[in-house]
Amino acid sequence: MRKWLARLLRQLGVLRFDLLATAKETFPDPASLKPRELVVVADAGIRKWACFLCPGGCGAHIALSLNQARRPRWQVVLDFWRRPTIDPSVHQTNQCGCHFFIRSGCVEWCQGCMPSLESKADGTIKAT
Ligand SMILES: [Zn+2]
Repeated sequence: MRKWLARLLRQLGVLRFDLLATAKETFPDPASLKPRELVVVADAGIRKWACFLCPGGCGAHIALSLNQARRPRWQVVLDFWRRPTIDPSVHQTNQCGCHFFIRSGCVEWCQGCMPSLESKADGTIKAT
């Protein structure tokens, strides 16, 4: 219900977000991931993974370890609308090179790390 309301408010331009969090107990099948969805895998109340599709349009499946005993590790904080803030930033070193922050559900691209999708969309290539 809250998610439905959040989507409505987003359509009305009241709420800004690119991603909303969904809780799951098991690691999701990569094929089941949807754009704009961040799956937080928690087992017995312990958060283990944050899974989502790379917002760069490359479609890469990203799984961030939330296990605080391991490195690298990330932290996910959800607000009232379940908009995630992820710390530290996400830097794809293997697949696509996308580098971004997620703050309050919004993707913030690091300078010079915009995905190629963006530059193709308007026919220009940024020289940052
Ligand atoms: Zn990417």
